[in-house]
Amino acid sequence: MAKLKIVKVGDDALRKVCRPVDAITPRIITLLNDMTETMRAADGVGLAAPQVGVLRRIVVIETPDDGLIELINPKIIAYSGEQEGEEGCLSVPGRWGIVKRPMHVTVRAMNRKGEVVDITGSGLLARAFCHELDHLDGKLYIDIAKEMINS
Ligand code: ZN
Repeated sequence: MAKLKIVKVGDDALRKVCRPVDAITPRIITLLNDMTETMRAADGVGLAAPQVGVLRRIVVIETPDDGLIELINPKIIAYSGEQEGEEGCLSVPGRWGIVKRPMHVTVRAMNRKGEVVDITGSGLLARAFCHELDHLDGKLYIDIAKEMINS
């Protein structure tokens, strides 16, 4: 595995709409592995491929309760409720914002075996789904935060 460079706000890669993955090739598997290593090294909850300069629809998320979740071509298929809380981003270092998100989110995606799976998350995981999937469409939480906090 290799640690990748995380691009920061201001980089064009963070503002592009990413392309779907057509086939799970060895390159995609390597990218998933490298993204997980990069996320863990940076102590992050999630990482989207454009954050390492790759414009493909791939996300990795890891929380203490949910473990590692790899999402290829993810889509939100259901959401409900509401939560408001602090959010940060590895591409926006040293800052936090208060962001409103759904409390429960169901995502449909492919896993690394090419199987289509539905995953429902609540609380932190629901927030991570929304935040990371936004990255795939060139959106950042700072666009929608109602208040920003500098650490
Ligand atoms: Zn982010």
